[in-house]
Formats: sequence, structure tokens, C-alpha cells
Amino acid sequence: MTPALEALYAFDLDMGSGRRASVRLRTPTVAKIVRLVLPPEEHTPQEAGRVLMLELEALIDTLAGHPPSAAELAAIVEDPERLGALLHVRNTVYDHLALEGRVLALCPHCDHGRAELDLTFYWLALRLPPWAFTDQGVLLKPPLLASPLPSGGRPEGWPRARGFDVIHPDAPGLRALRSLQTLEARIREQEGWRLWAPEGDQPPEGREHRHRSPAFSATLRLAVALETTPDVVDGMSVGAFFFLDLLHFALANADVVAPERAAVRCPACDGRFLPIF
Ligand SMILES: [Zn+2]
Repeated sequence: MTPALEALYAFDLDMGSGRRASVRLRTPTVAKIVRLVLPPEEHTPQEAGRVLMLELEALIDTLAGHPPSAAELAAIVEDPERLGALLHVRNTVYDHLALEGRVLALCPHCDHGRAELDLTFYWLALRLPPWAFTDQGVLLKPPLLASPLPSGGRPEGWPRARGFDVIHPDAPGLRALRSLQTLEARIREQEGWRLWAPEGDQPPEGREHRHRSPAFSATLRLAVALETTPDVVDGMSVGAFFFLDLLHFALANADVVAPERAAVRCPACDGRFLPIF
């Protein structure tokens, strides 16, 4: 864990009546967090309270030295100031985790050259609006991967990366990230739905979220992009998930309007190319 995360993961929270409790956070898995994304029609105060309790339960390792009880979680969710303090930390943590990812864009001009980049590069180079994982800082929004988006505009005459390897400190098994915009990926996604969430099928225990929800759609589509299974994605750190969700959008769906600004130089052969799909 980086020193910045260490600092973010431990803090004190005012629990009322002058009691301050030390909070220790942990990085939850995709299965614990991404399934809590509510479709817009389910945004009722009751549902919001329920998913916030589950999210905090996944995120808080200890409160005053022990796992938080249901009553303690309710005391946080039901107090706007206390909840606001905790969600502020949560939002900073999620941003920080996403920023820990790196991508190696493989040079199209030579065999072994690769440019190492992060999300900050893409957001500046492609002039993307600031990202937000939540709706106004509270409830998680559906991931960008949840629905197919149009491919980004590409300028004529610019070579593009040969491929992408991805790295995140929380997910040592990561390798290549593929585009979901290809015909092959669309076929694999259709196969994935038949295989992992067949229609009319009652999902087995522990996999109740496996239906055509934005949450499972994003999990399944990321599994296709990583050429793995939804089980592997479910077990991944949510930090790696947030990174890959934003990265796939930047590589596949964002328009490149100023190629001069977005092009990178290969450290091995000095050739220039656009580090996008
Ligand atoms: Zn090169």
C-alpha cells in the first residue's frame, strides 16, 4: 500500500455524544461494490440507505478496533454529517485507487517499445471532463463499461498502438486489455451472456446479481476485455476495476480531436503513435 493510501485508510469519525471512533478502511472486491449500483428507477431513499450500509460494511475494516455492527453502520448512514465525512474519504479513496493504474501502450513501429501512461495523461491529452464514480458524491453510478458506447473519432494518417498491457498494484494477474468495439468482442460478449447469465435461469446462491443489470453488464464486459471470466473480475480489487473502466473509455470511446497532443513517442525507436484502440 502506498503512503498516500495508508494515510487515507485510517482516520477518526465523530460518532456523537463526544465519542470519536478510529476507522480503518480496506479495499473491497468488485463483487462487494459494483453489484450495489442501482438502476435509476430503484433510487428510493430506502434502497439508497440499504446499499450505502452494504458499501460501508465492505469498505470499513474496523471501527473502534472491531468490525462495525449493523447499529453502528446505521448510525453513520442516518446522520448526514457523519455520512458526508465518510463518503468524502470514500470518494478520495476510489479516485486514488483508479490513479494507481498504469498502461503500457505497445509501439506499432517496433517489437519491444512501449510507452507507460496513466489516467491523468489520457484525461489531459484527450481533454476529457472530470470523472465521477458517484452521483453527486453519494450513490455509485453505473460503470462506463455497463453499456456499449460508440467508438471514438480517429484522425486519418496516425498510427495507433499495437496493443495494451495494463498494470495495477492491487491486481498482479492483469495482462492485456482488448477493445470491446470489435466484432470479435461483440460475439464473445453474446457468448458470455449465454454462458454466465442465461435468460430465465435462476442464478445460484452468491450470484444473485448475475442478470441484465448495469452492474453485471460491466463485470461481464470487463471479463471479455481482459479475456477472463466474471468470477475473476468479481474477485478483483475495486480499485483495479475503476481504473480499467475509465481506461477502456479513454482508449475506445473518447474522440481524438488533437492528435498532436495525444501522440506519444516510443522510448525504443522514437516513432510517434496514438496510444488508443
Ligand atoms: Zn518503437
